[in-house]
Amino acid sequence: MGARTGQQYLEALRAHPPELWIGGERVADPTTHPAFRHVTGSIAALYDMQHDPALREEMTYVSPSSGERVGLSFLTPRTHEDLVRVRRMMKRWADYSGGMLGRSPDYLNRALMAFAAAADYCAANDPRFGANIRRYYEEARERDLCLTHTLINPQANRAVGPAGQADPYLAAGIVRETADGVVIRGARMLATLPVADEIMVFPSTLLRGGQDDAPYAFAFAIPCATPGLRFLCRESFDYGRSPVDHPLGSRFEEMDAVVIFDDVLVPWERVFLLRDVERCNRAFAETRAVVHMAHQVVTKNVAKTEFILGVVCLLVETIAIEQFQHVQEKVAEVIHYLEAMRAFLRAAEADAAIDRWGVMTPAWPPLDAARQLYTRMYPRMIEIVQLLGASGLMAIPTRDDVDGPQAQTIARYYQAARANARQRIRLFRLAWDLAVSAFGSRQVLYERFFFGDPVRMAGVTFTSYDKTPYIERVRQFLARADAAMAPQTPAPAAGAPAPAGERDR
Ligand SMILES: Cc1cc2nc3c(=O)[nH]c(=O)nc-3n(C[C@H](O)[C@H](O)[C@H](O)COP(=O)(O)OP(=O)(O)OC[C@H]3O[C@@H](n4cnc5c(N)ncnc54)[C@H](O)[C@@H]3O)c2cc1C
Repeated sequence: MGARTGQQYLEALRAHPPELWIGGERVADPTTHPAFRHVTGSIAALYDMQHDPALREEMTYVSPSSGERVGLSFLTPRTHEDLVRVRRMMKRWADYSGGMLGRSPDYLNRALMAFAAAADYCAANDPRFGANIRRYYEEARERDLCLTHTLINPQANRAVGPAGQADPYLAAGIVRETADGVVIRGARMLATLPVADEIMVFPSTLLRGGQDDAPYAFAFAIPCATPGLRFLCRESFDYGRSPVDHPLGSRFEEMDAVVIFDDVLVPWERVFLLRDVERCNRAFAETRAVVHMAHQVVTKNVAKTEFILGVVCLLVETIAIEQFQHVQEKVAEVIHYLEAMRAFLRAAEADAAIDRWGVMTPAWPPLDAARQLYTRMYPRMIEIVQLLGASGLMAIPTRDDVDGPQAQTIARYYQAARANARQRIRLFRLAWDLAVSAFGSRQVLYERFFFGDPVRMAGVTFTSYDKTPYIERVRQFLARADAAMAPQTPAPAAGAPAPAGERDR
C-alpha cells in the first residue's frame, strides 16, 4: 500500500475501532466521536501531507522491498544526509501542530526502525523474535501503520516492582503460553494517542526489573482492536468548541488512556522479547531506539519552542510591553531555549556515527541533555506566557460573546495597542490554551514525564556519563597548585645541615 492518505487512516480506524471507553461510554466510531474526531482529523492531515505533490519528495522515500513510496520516518539512516532528511520530514509534521501533537506517528516509527535494525538483539532471546521484529517493521512501513505504545506498570505501589504488587495481575503479565501465542492479563499506563492502528507493549526505557519480574518482561505489538484489549480514556480536553475559542484543544487533544488486557492473545509472530528480564532492561539503550526517538523529540521541541516564541512576541507587541526591561529579558530567555535546542540537535547530527547495527545514529549526549533540560525549560516558558499575559489571559470572551449582544462593548474595551478586539481575543485565547487551560496544563505534565521520571533519568546520566577525564583534570590542576606553593628555598649544598623547619618535619 505504501504511504497512506488521511482518508485511509480514518477508514481503517472506522473499520477496526479500538475498544475505547470515555465518560462511562464505549466509543462506537472514533472518527466521529466528539472526543476524538478532531485529533483523528489532525492525524489524517499529517498523512495527507505525504501525498501533497509539493511535499511528496520531502515526506516519503521508495521502499526497498515494494518499490512503493513509504513514510520517511521509517527510513533506516545510513548517512548523515539520511538523518538530516528524516529530521526535516519530522519538523514538517511537528510544525503542523506547533509541537502540540507529541505522538505524531514518526515518534514510534523511529523506535520500530531501530528495533528492526537491531533484530539480532531480539534474536538472542529467541531466533524467532529477531525475524518477527524485522517482519513487523516492514509491515508497519508498507501499511503505514499508526502506533501507540505503553511501557509503564500501573501506579499502585511504587515501593515494589510488578511482581511485588498485591494482585499478581495488576501489572500486565503473562498468564500462559499456548501453541498460538502468549496470553496477557493486567494493566499498563499510559498510552497516548489510543486512536492508533496498533499498540507496542514494550519494556520501560528506564526502569529495571529483577528476576522475579520475568512474567512482566516482554515486547510485543498487536492491533488496538484485538479482542480483550480496552483503553480507559481520561476526560477529553477537547470541549467541542471551535478552533477560534480553543485553538489547540480543539485540534490536538491526543488523549491518554490506561490499557487493560483481559486475557489478550498475542500471536507468536508478534512477540519480540519474552521473559528475558536483563534483555528487556537494556532493550531501548542497546538497540539505540531511545536515541532515534530522542532525535524526533528534540526536533519536536524546536518546533514547539519556535511556536511559543511566536506567541510570546506577538503578545508583547499586541499590548505594547516591549520597552520594559524584564519583558525583554523574558523573551530573550525563550530565545536562549530555542537556540539551545537547535544547537543540541545540530551537535547530535554533526557527531552522528554508524552504530554496531550499521545505522547512522545521532550522538546521544546532546540529545540526552536536550530531552532532560526541556522538562524544566517547557514549564518555565509556560510560566513566562502567564507572567506576560497576566489578566489578559482571563479577558478572553468566546466567539459567541464577540458576535453576541455585547459585541460593541467588546469591540471597544478589548482592543489593544496594535490589534482590534477580535484579533486580540484570538491571540489571547491561543495563549490561554497554551498556558492555562486543561489542554495547556496537560502539555506541561507531558513535557515533564512522557520520556520517564526526570529524577531517575538524571540518575542514569549521573551513573553512565564518563566523568573521569574531568575529575582527572581537576586532580592535575590541584597537583599543579601544590607544586606552585612548595617552598622556593634553594637546595642545600651537599653535607650542609638542613634548615631548621625541614629538620622538624
Ligand atoms: C501526559 C502523559 C502522557 C504519557 N504517555 C505515555 C505513553 O504514551 N506511553 C507510555 O508508556 N507512557 C506514557 N506516559 C507515562 C510516563 O512514561 C510516566 O509518567 C513516567 O515514566 C513516570 O512514571 P509514573 O508516571 O508512573 O511516575 P511514578 O514512577 O509513579 O513516580 C511518581 C513520583 O514518585 C517518584 N518516584 C517513584 N519511584 C521512585 C524511585 N524508585 N526513585 C525515585 N523517585 C521515585 C517520582 O520521582 C515521582 O515524583 C505518559 C505520562 C504523561 C504524564
